[in-house]
Amino acid sequence: MNVLVLNCGSSSVKFQLIATDLERIKTNTDRRLARGMVERIGGEAIITLQAEGGAPQRSTAPLRDTRAAVELIIRWVTSEASGIAEARSVADIHAVGHRVVHGGERFTHSVLITDEVLGGIEDCIDLAPLHNPANLKGIAAAREVFGAGLPQAAVFDTAYHQTIPDYAYLYALPYQLYRRYRVRRYGFHGTSHRYVAYRYRQLLGLERAATNVITLHLGNGCSVAAIRAGDSVDTSMGMTPLEGLVMGTRSGDIDPAIIDYVAAKEGLSAQEVETLLNKQSGLLGISGLTNDMRELLDEERESDDRRARLAIEIFCYRARKYIGAYLAALNGADAVVFTGGIGENSAEIRTRICDGLQWLGLELDAERNAAHHGGLQGLISADSSRLAVYVIPTDEELLIARDTVRCIGGAPQRY
Ligand code: AMP
Repeated sequence: MNVLVLNCGSSSVKFQLIATDLERIKTNTDRRLARGMVERIGGEAIITLQAEGGAPQRSTAPLRDTRAAVELIIRWVTSEASGIAEARSVADIHAVGHRVVHGGERFTHSVLITDEVLGGIEDCIDLAPLHNPANLKGIAAAREVFGAGLPQAAVFDTAYHQTIPDYAYLYALPYQLYRRYRVRRYGFHGTSHRYVAYRYRQLLGLERAATNVITLHLGNGCSVAAIRAGDSVDTSMGMTPLEGLVMGTRSGDIDPAIIDYVAAKEGLSAQEVETLLNKQSGLLGISGLTNDMRELLDEERESDDRRARLAIEIFCYRARKYIGAYLAALNGADAVVFTGGIGENSAEIRTRICDGLQWLGLELDAERNAAHHGGLQGLISADSSRLAVYVIPTDEELLIARDTVRCIGGAPQRY
């Protein structure tokens, strides 16, 4: 079965075409037939398209909206020019899997999209005003292009974290704010945390019930999850993806009183302060240079830039504090798992996060650590380490495609 995976943002659409079915899932033989991205929709869009084994093709075209972008993607995928033998016509695309950011308390699993499900995603717009409308546009575009008969599934960023207990998801605010407006921790990156926890237990041949790990997703967005017996029991992102770790441009945890103080001092509205916390803070805000960790590490190495160093230090220190907190939340864990662009590729950041955890018997193996980048998965701690440390590359698109197949086949989703 060829599943088109769509991740629709406000002005971008990322996609992959993945050949998978229940047999391929069992044997781990799914194939990624194509991938790509359309950015800056609404103007002269930048288009990147890549078939399996081919080089990325870049071009531009004026694209009005999400529907035009989805149409372009499908036209290319099924064209002679893409050279994808498995997708000669629209009929060769058998299902669509959508990444949906917010599923609120309603969606605890991936689901086939029906009118009722669409209503549920709409109900969560209040909680994710930037993301859910874009996701809905993607679903509507795919429905228009393929017709209502083609199965489409929604895979939620929040769903995996719905097992977090109330004492961990509630904020210490007046309880009616939760009752009236659903103010609580939801957590995000759930598909990524779930995927790496699943790969971890596959790698070690463990039962789900024996999966007790802390997973760190460190990319442009960053979050950490505490996983007990395979379930998420706490996570650092909150009601929105702003809370928790230091990120590329997001502040993560701050004292909420800062918002009013900065608004008054700088003459900003609440909305403008929120933008400052989301877009001008984090690594970019501290360094004044960039939100890109690789560039910051280069800057620190080559120019000994003080603020680049500080940004990296604050980033690593915050991550280390969360590992400590989640070891307490879990009453100990068996492993720490790094994933995401930074977590998968930077031995240096992994070292600096783990440095200072020797007291609990965490010991990295320098050679193993240095060898893990560019998609390699495996153990990076020493054999004598009391807490194991792994690098496991994430693959949210694969999990979305697999969930889509399982939703269609009525097979249980693997959590
Ligand atoms: P993601 O959002 O998962 O694609 O991750 C993007 C982040 O990963 C950016 O900050 C990149 O600079 C960072 N990154 C990718 N490769 C490396 C690397 N080799 N060393 C440090 N950071 C990296």
